[in-house]
Parts: sequence; C-alpha cells; structure tokens
Amino acid sequence: MALFKKKKDYIKINPNRNATPMNEPSVPDDMWAKCPSCKHILYTKEIGEEKVCPNCGYNFRISASQRLALIADDGTFEEWDTDIETKDPLDFPGYSEKVKKMQEKNNLHEAVLTGIADISGERVALGIMDSHFIMASMGTVVGEKITRLFEKAIEQQLPVVLFTASGGARMQEGIFSLMQMAKVSAAVKNHSNAGLLYLTVLTDPTTGGVTASFAMQGDIIISEPQALIGFAGRRVIENAIKQELPEDFQRAEFLLEHGFIDQIVTRKELKARIYELIHMHTMKGWR
Ligand SMILES: [Zn+2]
Repeated sequence: MALFKKKKDYIKINPNRNATPMNEPSVPDDMWAKCPSCKHILYTKEIGEEKVCPNCGYNFRISASQRLALIADDGTFEEWDTDIETKDPLDFPGYSEKVKKMQEKNNLHEAVLTGIADISGERVALGIMDSHFIMASMGTVVGEKITRLFEKAIEQQLPVVLFTASGGARMQEGIFSLMQMAKVSAAVKNHSNAGLLYLTVLTDPTTGGVTASFAMQGDIIISEPQALIGFAGRRVIENAIKQELPEDFQRAEFLLEHGFIDQIVTRKELKARIYELIHMHTMKGWR
C-alpha cells in the first residue's frame, strides 16, 4: 500500500473547452506576436514591415526574401547558383526529405540566397542566410554558394555584403560541413587581396562555425540589436569553465563593448548605413 494516497481531483472538465464554438469570434494566429527578447505580446501591425519590437527594439528574425525587400533596390536582384544540388554524403536518415521539405516550405534553394543587387544604386554581391531553413546551418551547398559569391565578386570587382544567421555547421553532413569554413575563408582572403570591401551584418542568431569563420572576417562588422552571436552555447561554456556567465553574454551589445564588432545598427537605418559605407569605399580615387 502506498504511504501517501493521491487525492483525486473531482473537478469536472469539459472536453470541448478549447474548441471555439461556431458563433464565437476567433482571433487569427498571426494577429499577435510575442517578442522573444522582452516577452511583450504585440499587435503584429505594431512591429511594422521591418519587424522591430516597439517596446525593446529587438529585431525579429525575418526570411531571406523579407530581408531582400528591405535592403535591395526594387527589381535589381539577380539570383546566382541555384543549380547546385544538396547531397546526402553520410546517408543521414531523413536528411534528403528534410531538405526537400524546407525548399518547398521556404520557397528557397538552400539556407543562403546569393546574387547581385543594387543598394541605393551601389552594385554589390549580396548574400542572405535564412534561419528558417534548417537553422541556416552550413552544409556543402551553403559553403559553395558563399565561396562562389566571393569569386564572382572578384571577377566583377564588387564589394560583398553578407547577412549572416546560423545555428552552426550542418550535422547531417558531418566533416563535409566543417570543411566549408576553410573553403569560404580562402575565398574571403582572395577577395581581400583584390582590394575589395567585405561587409558582414550579423543577425539573430549567428553561432557556431559561421561565427568562427566568415561572419567575423568582414572588413566592417555590423550587427542588429540584441542579436545572439557566439560559438558554443552558453550552457556548454558554463559547464566547461564552472562559472556563471553575465546575463547579456553573447549578445551584440556585449560584443560591441568588448571590441568584437564595429557597430550596432537598427534595421530601420541599415540600408542607409550600408550604402554610406560602400559608397565611401568605392568612390573614385579612393582606392
Ligand atoms: Zn521586445
């Protein structure tokens, strides 16, 4: 016999309590959004087209196509390298299906969108990583597309603007994904040797192998406010060093204070700031 008898709960529960009756008004799911930073519940119209929290200034995660619409001049974007196919080198269970599903769901070839575009009239090689696509993890196709972005930028003598977001290396591709760090880094160096500007914009979240390579190799490194930027996760580090980390550890503001990034720019001012920086570096007689 059990020492403590569990008290029975006799409150009558209506099995249909969650169902909305036909005659009652329902609230559409996309009407409200919760800010992941300050936890405020916001009316979606309040966060606007730029998707910025009016309460704390957090910049919500957006898709590559939303980013493109905010940054590139209308009708100037021409996409590159959509013919590279994602392979499954380790025969990882369910991986091929997952990639296919992500492509359909996001209407995107892979976790990075690359091409050529104008930003307020300045021609750039543009890359945008999309965290909705397997957390923008870096697989062979992501690495290859970014490498080609730099190679084409050298051919056409263009600056590179790269929006980073990533959960790190793509585990389903094992060592092949880690090799992308060295490959992209070599392309970044060649682009730099050609005297061309490389500008990175870190967005929430930029972590793992992407932070450990091309995200931090920009000549100028900008970040959006409150973006999570780091290599290993907070708990992993705390367990390794047996110390508690500061509350804002791995946030853009903490990184700026410690000299890892150059500037924090809110999404509303981003296009104008990128234009200024590119224009300043591509002015005739500057180089
Ligand atoms: Zn907020």
